[in-house]
Amino acid sequence: GHLAMHNRERFEEEGVFVVNMMSSPGAGKTRLLERTLDDLASILNIAVITGDLQTDNDAQRLWGRGAQVVPVTTGTTCHLEADSVSRACEVIDLNPLDVLVIENVGNLVCPASFDLGEACRVVLMSTTEGEDKPLKYPPMFKLADVVIVTKTDLADAAGFDREKAVANIRSVTPQARLFELSAKSGEGLNDWYTLLLDSAPRHFAARESAATV
Ligand code: MG
Ligand code: ZN
Repeated sequence: GHLAMHNRERFEEEGVFVVNMMSSPGAGKTRLLERTLDDLASILNIAVITGDLQTDNDAQRLWGRGAQVVPVTTGTTCHLEADSVSRACEVIDLNPLDVLVIENVGNLVCPASFDLGEACRVVLMSTTEGEDKPLKYPPMFKLADVVIVTKTDLADAAGFDREKAVANIRSVTPQARLFELSAKSGEGLNDWYTLLLDSAPRHFAARESAATV
């Protein structure tokens, strides 16, 4: 809608790469962000908006890791909308920012229908959730720019069938980039970090100019 368009224009003007991160509850969004901030906040200027029905528990887990974190409680609404993102952005200084990650409410259904003005939609599914999430929630996966299989360290214990999962993801979204990682062991994190580093416009420009000096 109009508000999402307005957000997107603003993010582009300010040179901020905005990620809308979505998954079912417990797929590991907050855990991945904890690790991401620990590893990247010294080289990227990152802010996080955390959406939850109640409590700012996720925001509390992310505070003190070198990024600005703004909790948004949605009350009874099971997704974030462009206007709540716009309001959260009023307390964030967008200008120096490289990356804004919006941790959406844990829900694989309706967040798919709400454009927040993001540049990139990232959908997580964990190895502990089974392989059939893409088949059960096709709209969410269809619109993903990136699908991240999380908790690869637990794959064996969970009896995760990787080939089946990849085939299911590919049957719904042949074009999305696919990352497989563990925020715990660190395996596979480089793909995710490279995406953030390469997509952050200002960071990229700084490296370009440093390279030409
Ligand atoms: Mg969370
Ligand atoms: Zn909803």
